[in-house]
Amino acid sequence: MRLTRYFLPTLKETPAEAQIASHRLMLRAGMVRQAGAGIYSWLPLGFRVLKRIETIVHEEMQRAGAHAVLMPTMQLADLWRESGRYDAYGPEMLRIRDRHGRDMLYGPTNEEQITQIMRDDIQSYRDLPRNLYHIQWKFRDEIRPRFGVMRGREFLMKDAYSFDLDFESARRSYNTMFVAYLRTYARMGLRAIPLQADSGPIGGDLSHEFVILAATGETRVHADRRLLDMDAACSGIDYDGDLEPVVRAWTSLYAASDDKHDPETAPVSGSDLLVARGIEVGHIFYFGTKYSEAMGASVAMPDGERRLLHGGSYGIGVSRLAGAIIEACHDDAGIIWPDSVAPFDAGIVNLKTGDPLCDSIAAAAEERLHAAGLEVLHDDRDERAGVKFSDMDLIGLPWQIIVGPRGAASSRVELKRRADGQRLDLSLDDAVPCILDSRT
Ligand code: ATP
Ligand code: MG
Repeated sequence: MRLTRYFLPTLKETPAEAQIASHRLMLRAGMVRQAGAGIYSWLPLGFRVLKRIETIVHEEMQRAGAHAVLMPTMQLADLWRESGRYDAYGPEMLRIRDRHGRDMLYGPTNEEQITQIMRDDIQSYRDLPRNLYHIQWKFRDEIRPRFGVMRGREFLMKDAYSFDLDFESARRSYNTMFVAYLRTYARMGLRAIPLQADSGPIGGDLSHEFVILAATGETRVHADRRLLDMDAACSGIDYDGDLEPVVRAWTSLYAASDDKHDPETAPVSGSDLLVARGIEVGHIFYFGTKYSEAMGASVAMPDGERRLLHGGSYGIGVSRLAGAIIEACHDDAGIIWPDSVAPFDAGIVNLKTGDPLCDSIAAAAEERLHAAGLEVLHDDRDERAGVKFSDMDLIGLPWQIIVGPRGAASSRVELKRRADGQRLDLSLDDAVPCILDSRT
């Protein structure tokens, strides 16, 4: 992609309204623009990141046996009256009336909608278990939208819903999602800590929030430091096997949010205790028969008896993650994208646009990177080197290939790793393999 043809409206000034790094950087890097309080447009660079996050979420959900669907953003109030939540939800729910005078709402979540689908289309115990998910925009009229996409009113969420015959089977579904969440965040280069959360009306321990560590997080976490050494990638995991030992290994290590932490009773203290701030990027919980009972969702057992569905729901803040990743990965110069979610794999900085030699080396670099299956943003603007360097650092692509008149004569370029600033002087032939190697 040639930058002269791209839409990348970067800002030099720090926008006054932005209080935290990710919000500032998303605005400065031209990723998003505010459309209204807590409502954002995603510009090309930001949209690429969002899509890459979505892809990882899709892949890990499907690996874990969940099936992608797409439910609407607009829902009928009558459906929510069945569960009792139309009145219970409060002012966070955006209520709308259509031209026929029917009450509708912009979905803040989808338990009712998915329960209706299961109620209508699943009749037999043989149809269970099932896990369906979608990645869809939600609207919650948050009282205090802030921090850019981190607490928006309109935001993109992955929400999955599992349906099982009984508690034991529902626990297996829960464990599967638990592991899938660990893998999902690990693939994004994040360190996620599962915190025991309030489970609402059902009780029990099947409710966890996943929090990633970042200095500006809203949640203060107190956790056993050994959680940092756990294998979050869950390598070699077998979703058909028993995941209880894996989940146990994670949940047996202490982790609590501020409001639940009691230094008197906590099993770890001193240097074994990690105290850090975190951002909630996901929440999973088992809610039993709450919705199936209210809405009459059941299946027939072999003996003809009807059995209510046991449900769980599993959310990931997809748009919040774009901000959360930046909170976890940036420096004074800008964003430092983990390879897996970077909007482009590499950037090319041509220090002397218009110079035939530099132009041809830069074009060759672009071609080679493409041929290797990499996505690249080529800064071919007629700008000062300083401007190009600072924009490239700001948007945080993992690699920069710097083409200047000195090296160009001998087909040499500088390869810079954004994360540590390390620079290598090498031939163009060696630069591409070097980038590819780092990704395997
Ligand atoms: P919070 O405590 O942050 O308000 P929640 O408990 O309301 O979150 P859930 O209903 O469990 O959140 O939603 C699942 C995920 O969606 C959350 O873990 C979070 O990552 C994301 N999320 C929730 N509210 C917002 C929001 N207003 N803006 C962006 N992402 C959000
Ligand atoms: Mg909330």
